[in-house]
Amino acid sequence: MADIKTYTGGCHCGRVRYEVSADLGKVFGCNCSICIKRGALWAFTGSDQFELKAGAEELSDYQFNKKVIHHLFCRNCGVGSFSRGQAPDGRESVAINVRCLDGVDPNTLQVAQIDGKNL
Ligand SMILES: [Zn+2]
Repeated sequence: MADIKTYTGGCHCGRVRYEVSADLGKVFGCNCSICIKRGALWAFTGSDQFELKAGAEELSDYQFNKKVIHHLFCRNCGVGSFSRGQAPDGRESVAINVRCLDGVDPNTLQVAQIDGKNL
């Protein structure tokens, strides 16, 4: 059962802020080369469920490998609070770093693992 709620979140210094609707019943850790270093926990949602409220001009983009995902981060504090990419069906999607959501305790969430290293 999807349990979609609306959350606010952003980077550490507060320049990047967003509002997003997502299901935190489906949260993923990943072992790919960047996630394993960052330690992010991800929830995926459509780009139409995501609204950047502040900080578009503060975002730097990091890409590597096939360059399909935009690993955005705040150029001031360095925190990557979300990434943009495409879902397998081609729709624009957003990966939310659940650790950056206000009032969410990531230790209470059930986390599944993505084998990103081998994708
Ligand atoms: Zn920041």
